[in-house]
Amino acid sequence: MKKIAVIGTGLSALSLAYHLPTLDITFFEKSWRPGGRISTRRHENYIFDHGAHYLKEDNGIIGFNEFLHKINATKILNGEFCANIQNQLPIEKKQIIVGQNGMESIPLEFHKYLRYPTNLSTQINKIETINQEYYLHTEDQEYGPFDFIFCCIPFEQSKNLLNKFIDFNVLSVPNFDSIWTIMVALDKRLGSPFQFGYHMTPEISFLMNQNFKHEFFSDECWVVNMRAEWTKEYYNIENYVLEDYVIDQLKKTFQSDAKAVFKKSHRWKYAYAKKSLNELDSKNFIESIDHRLYALGDWCHGPSMQDAWLSGKKLAKHFSELRVQL
Ligand SMILES: Cc1cc2nc3c(=O)[nH]c(=O)nc-3n(C[C@H](O)[C@H](O)[C@H](O)COP(=O)(O)OP(=O)(O)OC[C@H]3O[C@@H](n4cnc5c(N)ncnc54)[C@H](O)[C@@H]3O)c2cc1C
Repeated sequence: MKKIAVIGTGLSALSLAYHLPTLDITFFEKSWRPGGRISTRRHENYIFDHGAHYLKEDNGIIGFNEFLHKINATKILNGEFCANIQNQLPIEKKQIIVGQNGMESIPLEFHKYLRYPTNLSTQINKIETINQEYYLHTEDQEYGPFDFIFCCIPFEQSKNLLNKFIDFNVLSVPNFDSIWTIMVALDKRLGSPFQFGYHMTPEISFLMNQNFKHEFFSDECWVVNMRAEWTKEYYNIENYVLEDYVIDQLKKTFQSDAKAVFKKSHRWKYAYAKKSLNELDSKNFIESIDHRLYALGDWCHGPSMQDAWLSGKKLAKHFSELRVQL
């Protein structure tokens, strides 16, 4: 059976592996856990979804929500949200989909369902070819040979791994927004009339209450995203300065004297795909001339989980059709 290496275990990698016909697939993941930007942080008794927040109930992608429901990865919530907090737009009701036990349930359950061997904490630094066979390299180990390699990682990182084999000069460059994310637990309720909302201040683009997702903790927990332009300007800000600033903004907005009992922040270098490959070059993935190396990810289609799912699905379809022809 053909041997396939999949680099990354984000949603695009999982979707690709799911949509490919049964093959000898091995995952390689630099982190200690699968999931990439769908990430849930647990601290003491707090849980924060500090990567992807939620899926729309109707995301227009056939089969995606149904599949996640089937593998028991998700649950439906009814939330109140505000589209523009600064402008005091009316609160609306919205049905959203979140992970059963944090957003990380989505990649964790998906990965479990696939049952492919996975090398965690394994960062691939180099791809080499010997006698037309492909090998993966970490700092101190070689894996292979492989017949096909799929890089399901952000564009810049794929480029670094693949530029010996693919001419990236002929391709446009999909770009990403970076996002600072702040996790805060407070000793008192803020009294917010919504559970999630957009545009709280000129710097804060989104915030989401975590209590309505995870009912078992008593302190009030929020995840706050800074605006992309702001993140760019304050990319190297000290974590504690940012955290204190955001807590101050929360207290001002909700006229609260709550005290933070927990704070933490994380900077996502590659958060959202701003311009996708499809938008720039009408392409759905990147492939080597010998059709054995591929690059894919949300950046092929757009900024969300459903784009990552679509990216894997489209490449799997192309690959299956090509294999019939070869
Ligand atoms: C703060 C934030 C909020 C978001 N909110 C939402 C939301 O509410 N709704 C929504 O739909 N989407 C949201 N998104 C976007 C969504 O998370 C992504 O579109 C999607 O998860 C991307 O999946 P992916 O597989 O393309 O990439 P990734 O999830 O980035 O997966 C890439 C994987 O490859 C691994 N990797 C990278 N380099 C290597 C290497 N050299 N060797 C081995 N492994 C490697 C990484 O560790 C990672 O696990 C958000 C993203 C962020 C950051």
